[in-house]
Amino acid sequence: MFVHQDVKSFTEENLVHWLGQHGVVPYRAGQILRWIYHRGVYSFSDMTDLSKDLRSFLSERLAISRLEIEQVQTSKDGSRKYLFRLKDGQHIESVLIPEPGHWTLCISSQVGCGMGCKFCLSGRGGLVRNLEPAEIVNQVCGVRDDLQDPSSLTNIVFMGMGEPLANYSSVVQAVRTITGNNGLQFSSRRVTLSTAGLVPRIDDLGQDVRVNLAVSLNASDNDTRNELMPINLTYTIEMILSACRRFPLPSRRTIMFEYVLIAGVNDTPTDAERLAKLLRPLRAKINLIPFNQYEGTEFKRPEEGAILAFQKVLSDHHYTAVIRHSKGGDINAACGQLRAVMDN
Ligand code: SAH
Repeated sequence: MFVHQDVKSFTEENLVHWLGQHGVVPYRAGQILRWIYHRGVYSFSDMTDLSKDLRSFLSERLAISRLEIEQVQTSKDGSRKYLFRLKDGQHIESVLIPEPGHWTLCISSQVGCGMGCKFCLSGRGGLVRNLEPAEIVNQVCGVRDDLQDPSSLTNIVFMGMGEPLANYSSVVQAVRTITGNNGLQFSSRRVTLSTAGLVPRIDDLGQDVRVNLAVSLNASDNDTRNELMPINLTYTIEMILSACRRFPLPSRRTIMFEYVLIAGVNDTPTDAERLAKLLRPLRAKINLIPFNQYEGTEFKRPEEGAILAFQKVLSDHHYTAVIRHSKGGDINAACGQLRAVMDN
């Protein structure tokens, strides 16, 4: 008996190395990975262009993991929330969001979250644990397997539960698998990572992989941001924006800034003016997310008039500012509502 190692936990290099140790030519690594990620195969016995001997050799030593879908909920607006059960009994959620002509999948990077943002329900219970690379990638595989037309899933956003840059090496490995030629082959232009602003990791990310960067700014001054997002006590708005200026941005690409609009906290025209000024040195787009209310929060979503006025200031300054009416509110799948536990 052998201990089965999960192929999905390997990078392509790891697999080449592992095969090499067992006297198998490196070329087989790509073949195996393409069966797994291009064709969605979960058994070595289905890999018909490998010899029978190699297939049984691999089956005896390696496993191909998948996540168990415990529940799928569909919202009135067409978005779908997947509840996955991990091997240690923990749960994570991913949200499939309908867009004109395609789907976007919002995936989680941690069970819980350690950032402690005051307005975010996902972080209420603190960080439980980091996800492994395979657990991140398997959210994509699991949802893709569940779609009638797998090719309609074109965009991935790391905007689910957790702070992706606080689970850096696993997230980077997952991004490589998601965008790799022998991986899931998503275009790196269609993969977006959102961060609360871990500055040194933003710099690393720019060096290590190609993805779109999104930053949850959520305030236009440090005092307010300190109150809302404790991470700001370590990395201030100015430090984040400097990191954004250093971030290697392909031509015609922009950095996305998310801004949760909370009534009486960060939603005045003065805030919008300050925000416009802050972002001036950058190629920036802004996603305005009206606060999603939930039971037990003192925060409120602004009136529609205040939201539109905020947007108008930004568009008067020639920014693209989109109001993101979060999808999936009726199934607790909206921004900041994903939970590590089944609560419904
Ligand atoms: N930790 C990363 C990834 C999570 S993205 C990050 O902070 O960017 C989740 C987004 O939802 C963040 O922009 C966050 O600011 C926003 N959010 C959290 N709670 C929310 C709420 N109740 N209503 C609206 N947006 C919320």
